[in-house]
Amino acid sequence: MAKSSRKSAARSAPRAANAKPLAKPSRGEAEEAVRTLIRWAGDDPRREGLLETPSRVVRSYEEFFAGYDHDPKLVLARTFEEVDGYDEIIVLTDIRFESHCEHHMVPIIGKVHIGYLPDRRVVGISKLARLVEVYARRLQIQEKMTAQIADALQEVLKPRGVAVVVEAAHQCMTTRGVHKPGVSMVTSRMVGAFRSDARTRREFLSIIDMAGQRGIPNA
Ligand SMILES: [Zn+2]
Repeated sequence: MAKSSRKSAARSAPRAANAKPLAKPSRGEAEEAVRTLIRWAGDDPRREGLLETPSRVVRSYEEFFAGYDHDPKLVLARTFEEVDGYDEIIVLTDIRFESHCEHHMVPIIGKVHIGYLPDRRVVGISKLARLVEVYARRLQIQEKMTAQIADALQEVLKPRGVAVVVEAAHQCMTTRGVHKPGVSMVTSRMVGAFRSDARTRREFLSIIDMAGQRGIPNA
């Protein structure tokens, strides 16, 4: 992300309850923290191969966590269109995302499937992908991200219902701890018609299942 956009973009970083916002550390402080972690890992940050690593890591963090600089509701607010009476489910499948788990700060990589039942208004598909990105590029837990995507869509677009399913592999499970490669976690959030009407929910689940041959059990 362009550095110049960081100042003007809406700040929506969550903070601890009752806590004042913490000042953002300087780039130099962030790089120093990386040197500390290199030493903690057991290496010498003065070693030639590691000299540029702190600045690279800090630049990577700007990319990984760019979501804090963007307001997800503004992402959606910009493009509403009238649709001539289209009132069937709209589904976008397999939106790839990369996020980081807030417990270990290692990658969560997966796919998001979004469905909604429009009520006069629709949103461009690129905006749905962008919405996923704004939430993914933060420290996350999958359950929270699933709910945030669904709730933002419901709040801004006010459709008759929203369904979000997220499938992801967590590197904190595959590369450390219990070391279980190949495990993926599936979370879902059903709102409005997708929650109250089993047929609508089944239609969504069968569409995403057809798209990916996933065998997700119908709810
Ligand atoms: Zn984790």
